[in-house]
Amino acid sequence: MNKINCLVEECVYNCNNDCEANEIQVCSSNAGNVSHPDNTFCKTFSSKRSDK
Ligand code: SF4
Repeated sequence: MNKINCLVEECVYNCNNDCEANEIQVCSSNAGNVSHPDNTFCKTFSSKRSDK
């Protein structure tokens, strides 16, 4: 897959700001009006914390 630079260090797939997931799913967080990056999120995110 294409190289994905991700700054979410709390994700288990994040290794030195590179995403190591085989694939990711990115969704809109506001289905009715997506007009800014803040309106999207990575649904593949999984917390490194075990108490999530
Ligand atoms: S799965 Fe999503 S949040 Fe996690 S490192 Fe990859 S792009 Fe970032």
